[in-house]
Amino acid sequence: MPRLLLLLPSTTYRTAAFVEAARRIGVDLTVASERPSTLEAANPAGLLTLDFQHPERAADEAQNFARQHPLDAVVGVDDDTAVVAAAVAERLRLKGNSLKAAVAARDKHRQRELLAAAHVPVPGFALHRLDDDPRELANKVVYPCVLKPLRLSASRGVMRADNPTAFVAAHVRLSSILAGCDTEFLVEDFIPGYEVALEGLLVNRRLHVLALFDKPDPLDGPFFEETIYVTPSQVPAGLQEAIAHCAEQAARALGLTEGPVHAELRYNERGPWLIELAARPIGGRCSAVLRFGDGVGLEELILRHALGMPIPSLEREAAAAGVMMIPIPGAGVLQEVRGLEEAKAVPLVEDVQITAHPGERLVPFPEGSRYPGFIFARGAEPGAVEAALRESHRRLTFVLDAS
Ligand code: ADP
Repeated sequence: MPRLLLLLPSTTYRTAAFVEAARRIGVDLTVASERPSTLEAANPAGLLTLDFQHPERAADEAQNFARQHPLDAVVGVDDDTAVVAAAVAERLRLKGNSLKAAVAARDKHRQRELLAAAHVPVPGFALHRLDDDPRELANKVVYPCVLKPLRLSASRGVMRADNPTAFVAAHVRLSSILAGCDTEFLVEDFIPGYEVALEGLLVNRRLHVLALFDKPDPLDGPFFEETIYVTPSQVPAGLQEAIAHCAEQAARALGLTEGPVHAELRYNERGPWLIELAARPIGGRCSAVLRFGDGVGLEELILRHALGMPIPSLEREAAAAGVMMIPIPGAGVLQEVRGLEEAKAVPLVEDVQITAHPGERLVPFPEGSRYPGFIFARGAEPGAVEAALRESHRRLTFVLDAS
């Protein structure tokens, strides 16, 4: 049986879906995490500790491991482990992206540089130091603009500013979010328009669009908390092609060749704009909305591709499907969530998963980015799916202790 190395950070939501997919396709599985597991000694082939912060070091460790337990594929599940997976794949000559490409995709500034050089439409951008005087900078930048960390994700720390006062205030917040982590940040032109998310799989450099999601709630800032994703997109077919082409150009410019990509794009009267392309699948629990062929999940598709196993279908099912990342209801300690059964009872709603637990402190955007849960719906029409998600959410009450 082939052996798969799955890179699962200890904090991920993805474990169950990927482990289940590995079980379904029948592979020997090694799960690597950045924290040693007490069970490692009892299961030396199944568990491994890798230094996710240092991809080259992780590749050394994986190479040592592979001498005892040869590996046939490596898969990362998020932004950081995508880079580690590339380092391991390069070292062990497994299918995957080059480390250089994965690193470029991970760094928002490097990504912008490469995309701009390849004439992929991206916002105007400039790199700045956090310790430069924000008041001086505020008088130089073009408004509206977006301040953005280089290496965070899920819109954490991303802020729009429409004038110098807002810029300075955003700079203060970003400085405290990045304290001790980074000294630089990006300032970009704000691109108005409608936003979509593209889920894709690169197979030998070719981008297969697995799903295009509409994001029906406006994302105009000042913060960019995501809410609803619905597929299939209602965007006209010609524009969908232009969007897919833009994402494929971006992947090529970054040098990505294999595996999942998740891209955010906007479009307006000037066409599509690439906001970000990541060499990983859709985050959180959202992948549960995607089913291919006769019910294969996204994780299984990713694993089959990595292992070079046949993929029954890259075609998403015919039904419309959607997920709501439940908006963070405020700042405070979660006491309880009311209305769960009522929320689940809404027609077309398949599941409501509350991932925040009582006693957890909820932190709103832009400092926070952890959604308290997810709502899933499926139906014949995207509009009905969206309405079901909204109705389900309306029935939920998050009780917080704001003290
Ligand atoms: P992250 O990787 O943290 O999600 P992104 O660069 O994808 O960061 O930005 C998060 C969201 O912020 C985007 O999905 C988009 O809605 C908004 N955004 C980011 N940059 C811009 C921009 N230049 N113009 C307009 N909106 C933007």
